[in-house]
Amino acid sequence: MKLIDTHCHIDITAFEERFLNLLKNARLAGVSKMILPGVDRNGWDRIMTLCHQEEGLYAAPGLHPLYLAQHRPHHLEELSALASSGKIVAIGEIGLDYHVPDLDRTIQQQLFEQQLQIAATAGLPAILHVRKAHDQVLATLRRKRFPHGGIVHAFNGSLQQAGQFIGLGFVISVCGTITYDRARRIRKIAAQLPSETLVVETDAPDIPLAGHRGEDNLPEHLPEVLAALATLRGERVELVAEYTTSNAKRVLHLPD
Ligand SMILES: [Zn+2]
Repeated sequence: MKLIDTHCHIDITAFEERFLNLLKNARLAGVSKMILPGVDRNGWDRIMTLCHQEEGLYAAPGLHPLYLAQHRPHHLEELSALASSGKIVAIGEIGLDYHVPDLDRTIQQQLFEQQLQIAATAGLPAILHVRKAHDQVLATLRRKRFPHGGIVHAFNGSLQQAGQFIGLGFVISVCGTITYDRARRIRKIAAQLPSETLVVETDAPDIPLAGHRGEDNLPEHLPEVLAALATLRGERVELVAEYTTSNAKRVLHLPD
């Protein structure tokens, strides 16, 4: 199997010492490509270094809505410059988070639109972080006529909202949440969506899988997300691996 972890923060300091081991274990588990999304300006340098050094790692730099207080206007200029350099496959993770109180929604909106513009200009897709703001993100994508699609990471909206993202050229990313029986809504959505609209991720080190509580989440756990997805859909694991990988390659324009 050749799997693609479409969202993992393996650039974090906590993984630095065991990074090569982590990468080796991921590859042994069949994860041949990993997408490293950005969260703030400080993190981009290490992400870019790792992606240049290591085969199969791809960068998606961006300014995450949760870290609003750390972002500065000149970071957007730097993102524009970075967006046209190599090994960048998307701008991410960007979006709107209405789940956390006290995050200024006007500033979030501005930041999101400015980064969509950068992605549009560079001809890059977007990796979206959306919580309790799916309709607002959809309205923004429509208003900006964002043409490059991308991935809705760790999707947590409704089936209807998933359909609207798909209509705008996005695919829906399924994470370890589906390994929990109680995640009934998202499990049902993952079972119902057409196969050409799904990709998988770990969101390492976040979102631990069922049976791995209290442990770091790692890209090597991706086959368990895949297995849960295959069970929910009543399909063979190999088939789900094949189409999720080919969907990720299509939407992010990844090489074989
Ligand atoms: Zn993330």
